Amino acid sequence: MTGHVLVLNAGSSSLKYSLVDAATGRTRGDGQVERIGEAQGAQWHTGPGEELRREVGVDDHHHALRLALAAFEERGPALADVDLVAVGHRVVHGGSLFTDSVLVDDEVVEGLRGLVPLAPLHNPANIEGIEVARRMLPGVPHVAVFDTAFHATLPRHAHTYAVPYAWAEEHGVRRYGFHGTSVAFVVRQAAQVLGRTPEETNLVVLHLGNGASATAVSAGRSVETSMGMTPLEGLVMGTRSGDVDPALHGHLHRTAGWSLEEIDRLLNRESGLQGLLGDNDVREMVRRREDGDERASLAFDVYCHRIRKYVGAYYAVLGRVDAVVFTGGVGENSAPVRHAVLEGLGELGIELDAVRNTAPETGPRPVSDPASRVAVLVVPTDEEWEIAREAVRVGLG
Ligand code: ADP
Repeated sequence: MTGHVLVLNAGSSSLKYSLVDAATGRTRGDGQVERIGEAQGAQWHTGPGEELRREVGVDDHHHALRLALAAFEERGPALADVDLVAVGHRVVHGGSLFTDSVLVDDEVVEGLRGLVPLAPLHNPANIEGIEVARRMLPGVPHVAVFDTAFHATLPRHAHTYAVPYAWAEEHGVRRYGFHGTSVAFVVRQAAQVLGRTPEETNLVVLHLGNGASATAVSAGRSVETSMGMTPLEGLVMGTRSGDVDPALHGHLHRTAGWSLEEIDRLLNRESGLQGLLGDNDVREMVRRREDGDERASLAFDVYCHRIRKYVGAYYAVLGRVDAVVFTGGVGENSAPVRHAVLEGLGELGIELDAVRNTAPETGPRPVSDPASRVAVLVVPTDEEWEIAREAVRVGLG
């Protein structure tokens, strides 16, 4: 698996990019263009040369990618000097159409367009990024890597909602799951820490970042996951509510007079920790809780209780759990969250080690008591590396 991959993550108003050595995962240069479409845009870029930061108006995604490529020329590494073998595109929603990473051609782009109704917030920008990059970098294969793909193995009973049967066929109503790129990476790493193959490994993976999800992994495959048809379902997140009573929409529509679009926006952008606390940063929540802030204490309890509930549920789904794995910005860094989620679960064979849990280490590591029947692991995720690996596997296949 040799060569470098330009990994692109195009959002509606931003383009994140990074140049990754697919063999080692080493990032050779990366950056971000922000506020695309605004007169006051911005870019930063880190490479071997001096760091670049500039305020610059950014017309559109084409302009953003031009700025990215220019930054590689100016601050390095120049793309001509590395063996660029592929471009890997992060795509949020693959629907039922894309169950694996795919080499992009016109037909694939058409397929992605057909999925826009399922992911109106994310997929249009992903498509825009792909189209622009194919035009500007025509000499290398472009590979789309989907957040949903790892969950293509969900059994029917796990991905089927109990709604009129025809909705699945006619409107794509089913659970898809997200964060799959991260979970796939973390499963391999966790298996390695446990000294097993992924096929021998049952895990509960908790990806806790701004978005958050839990996944039950049986013999290396996803069999249940907390995000559903969209990334809104499941755990409490930075700005998303996670699970609510589905009757909430109707209730608020009737009593507050809000439109469905507005309620959708409020549940995605103004809820979760942001809604409870006015801040979506877990560090801030933990700090305020330690200062005795009542509301921060409630937000912390709601956040951790939801995760704990899912751990119990997925334990029952799996029957045997080899490890509970924490990843993502919160999972990797927040000892208080890990503690609150798993405290008192000795009866389930889960015993956190207080010293290991709070040790200032960064690599993949156990944080459970050596005698714990179920290991507890912290595994830093690396979605860019996973996308780079996929781009090489599929692009050079
Ligand atoms: P994204 O989902 O956008 O990729 P990350 O995985 O980087 O985000 O996670 C971002 C979250 O990680 C933020 O809520 C931040 O509060 C949290 N975080 C980062 N560092 C720490 C830390 N040391 N302790 C607690 N939370 C942290």
